[in-house]
Amino acid sequence: MLTECRHDIAEMELAELEQALETLGRPRFHGRQLFQWIHKRGVTDFGEMTDLGRELRSTLAAEFRIITPEVIRRERSIDGTMKFLLRLEDGQLIESVFIPDTPSNTFCLSTQVGCAMRCGFCLTGKMGIIRNLTAGEIAGQVRVLTRELDMLHSRFNVVLMGMGEPLHNYDATMKALRILADGHGLSVNPRRVTLSTVGVLPALERLATEPLMPNLAISLHATTEDQRDLLVPINRKYGLKELLDACRSFPVKRRERITFEYVMLKDVNDTDEDARRLVRLLNGIRAKVNLLPLNEAAGIPHERPSDARVNRFAQILAERGIVVSVRKSRGRDIRAACGQLITESTRQKSPGQLLASLMSV
Ligand code: SAH
Repeated sequence: MLTECRHDIAEMELAELEQALETLGRPRFHGRQLFQWIHKRGVTDFGEMTDLGRELRSTLAAEFRIITPEVIRRERSIDGTMKFLLRLEDGQLIESVFIPDTPSNTFCLSTQVGCAMRCGFCLTGKMGIIRNLTAGEIAGQVRVLTRELDMLHSRFNVVLMGMGEPLHNYDATMKALRILADGHGLSVNPRRVTLSTVGVLPALERLATEPLMPNLAISLHATTEDQRDLLVPINRKYGLKELLDACRSFPVKRRERITFEYVMLKDVNDTDEDARRLVRLLNGIRAKVNLLPLNEAAGIPHERPSDARVNRFAQILAERGIVVSVRKSRGRDIRAACGQLITESTRQKSPGQLLASLMSV
């Protein structure tokens, strides 16, 4: 079989592209044109790059490819949320979600195929980790969604809350954010991007030093080490206390806060005592809390608390001066809500694995 060795040009930053053009003995400014065609105009074929000469286009096509995830299914929720099932070059499947007006339009992107974190209430975790996405595949989801939704010229927010743990795929994630932020591309301001993480500490410490800084959301979900060890297994390696210390010293931008996500599980972490402990834990951190009443699913051994319980929990936080919101789950009818992304291929490819996880509950 012939192995494809042409490099994916869509996963190159502008500086890399300029360098590549120079290596080909061409002027660097063609790199800028190429970057604009791919990232600003969403073109997926060298043939359409009409301001580049025919000869350059064929040289480029011989050297490079423009890898673009392929949409193989679109689902629309009654609330307008849309879930896209995308096929990657190697046949792996991921999901990306469009959430309209919350209050802005938001793209929820995946950073990995599956996830290694295995949080006890998340369906993606049941897949295990299959592989990391490349920067091109992460940023490529935006190219695909803007084209599908005719939003190339609209403003949108990005949340890295799809499949995968972004800080477990650090380099590709940060590179994708640089590609998205580039003024010659879509100019997605990092302030419009939120990275959600379980808190992979060494990577979080690295993130603290980045020039390009997204908003930070921490998946906290528990208020004691023991409770978090069970719900978010990486806590056994990077504990709650260390995580909160890292948050305390994280360079939060002026007028901004770190979001702490807290999935609410009936009779597990939803008591008044949990709420009060949460307030104490967040002492000294510029924080806001986002409560996520569990999106239930077969195979998830937890229940969603009542609305009254969620409201009472929120009230305890609010009375003690914590900014708190309750995440309205969007797209639950099409399984596009938080923690519900799990691709069919996994269901089909490893029924044994899924069955085992279903039976173990
Ligand atoms: N790996 C990242 C992104 C995950 S998805 C992270 O863990 O932060 C975004 C949020 O949805 C996380 O806080 C995650 O814990 C939460 N989540 C996962 N499963 C959920 C479920 N079934 N119901 C509600 N929220 C869930």
